[in-house]
Amino acid sequence: MTDPDCIFCKIVAGEIPSTQVDADEHTIAFMDIAPATRGHVLVIPRRHQPDLLAVDDEDLTASTLMAKRVALRVVDKLGADGVNLLNCCGSAAWQTVFHYHVHVIPRYLDDPARDALKLPWIPTPGDPAEIAAAATQLNG
Ligand code: 5GP
Ligand code: ZN
Repeated sequence: MTDPDCIFCKIVAGEIPSTQVDADEHTIAFMDIAPATRGHVLVIPRRHQPDLLAVDDEDLTASTLMAKRVALRVVDKLGADGVNLLNCCGSAAWQTVFHYHVHVIPRYLDDPARDALKLPWIPTPGDPAEIAAAATQLNG
């Protein structure tokens, strides 16, 4: 399971360089070249699968466990105050590289030099009937 046109497959194969911070049988973890905050890491399965809807359970599990390991490390070694795990599934959800990956984004309180992220939505109570309608559709 590899795609010759996929940049992350090329990173797995060592054909293009990356700054690796961890690896196991199923996954690798390496620094994002355009970090959202200081220490932003990407975790990917070694096998090419385009997104969350396609990744198999074994690679999903291995990637999640690796993401937790990296999250513990960014807190311990970089002094992060918190961590966001992010997966973008589909262009509509901001996915740009179509090889499943998890972003491990360290978060720093009151430190705009290392972390200028803002919540990308404004939490506002929704219409209860519309929330219930969506739930009915999901259950149908
Ligand atoms: P997505 O937008 O698909 O959720 O995330 C793709 C991520 O891959 C982006 O954060 C982007 O900065 C990162 N990225 C894209 N190309 C490369 C690359 O060649 N090397 C590394 N290390 N990261 C990359
Ligand atoms: Zn790939």
